[in-house]
Amino acid sequence: MSVSRVYRYRPETRLVHAGTLRSQFGETSEALFLTQGYVYDSAAQAEARFKGEDPGYQYSRFSNPTVSMFETRMAEFEGAEAARATATGMAAVTLALLGQVRSGDHVVAAKALFGSCRYIVEDFLPRYGVTSTLVDGTDLGQWRKAVRKNTKTFFLETPTNPTLDVLDITAIAEIAHAAGATLVVDNVFSTPLWQSPLTLGADCVVYSATKHIDGQGRCLGGVILGSEEFIQKHIHMLIRQTGPSLSPFNAWVLLKGLETLAVRVRRQTDTAATVAVALADHKKISRLIYPGRPDHPQVEVVRKQMRGGSTLVAFEIKGGKRAAFRFQDALKLVRISNNLGDAKSLITHPATTTHQRLTPAQRAELGISDGLVRFSAGLEHPDDVVNDLLAALEAA
Ligand SMILES: *Cc1c(COP(=O)(O)O)cnc(C)c1O
Repeated sequence: MSVSRVYRYRPETRLVHAGTLRSQFGETSEALFLTQGYVYDSAAQAEARFKGEDPGYQYSRFSNPTVSMFETRMAEFEGAEAARATATGMAAVTLALLGQVRSGDHVVAAKALFGSCRYIVEDFLPRYGVTSTLVDGTDLGQWRKAVRKNTKTFFLETPTNPTLDVLDITAIAEIAHAAGATLVVDNVFSTPLWQSPLTLGADCVVYSATKHIDGQGRCLGGVILGSEEFIQKHIHMLIRQTGPSLSPFNAWVLLKGLETLAVRVRRQTDTAATVAVALADHKKISRLIYPGRPDHPQVEVVRKQMRGGSTLVAFEIKGGKRAAFRFQDALKLVRISNNLGDAKSLITHPATTTHQRLTPAQRAELGISDGLVRFSAGLEHPDDVVNDLLAALEAA
């Protein structure tokens, strides 16, 4: 089989072609290799395969041709030397952190994290003697002050969930590197189309492929990207031996999802920007946050590190939880869901769902008020989406 490596082409072209492994049948669409194992031509070949002297596959917990295609396509799109796919985004986050630390180490992370990520840093790692400090990610002084002698890694997501703050990846990477630590960036909210953390100085990027990479609400998946050295040193053995592998079927769905990623994310970003314009000055909305608007709190950082806005818009409805619930219940097209990046437009009330686990004080600290909702733009006609949101605001 031959592998296409297509670095010379632009990112959108790589999304369609990179990593394709074409079998002897010459199929146009990538094949789904639904197999657990592989057979060998001889005992000597099996021995050589296990010694790493013969290239090829051994067992699908380690690697699989369809999963490899997804990994190569992701790596070439992201501009990373290496990638490893995982069963979920949380497996990617957990391994990216766990792989780097030992008992006695310390992690610094931004407070505004996806709920499960915050659990890993705050509750899970400490069980194994890995302490952590949570900081306001937009305040560079807090990152600097949090560094200790035993700090191994920094972790952040940007834009943040759900308030869409934008953190300065380059500046935070410099602080991490000066401390002898690495920086891991969860790039889900910006998508690989609009932001390239490795180019900005990060050492590792993680995705929940469940979101825009699938983009049509079907499969869970994740991916970890970095230099060959980073992946070999921290991730390679851990994934193989602990087994959070991506199934070939899900890898195939995600691989085909990548082919349409740029088209979808552009359209979703345009719709989100249209929604932001339509709702910004609405009398029932007290605050609207959209990276790409001139009134975004980190407008300079957005300009410096993002190539596009966001597929998400956050806004606060006057009247707290009651008004936010009435608004959500009055929507006819936009569906209530905690997911994002789907073909279907979705609305979330973070205070009672994704961020319910936090105390009211912790939510207040993150700007997650009872009236705040997070909108994820789908692929419907933008006018239908805007009309649905405006009609539901009338009812709120
Ligand atoms: C969804 C999400 C995750 C977790 O991904 P799963 O695929 O659900 O495990 C991690 N980080 C961010 C920012 C997410 O949106």
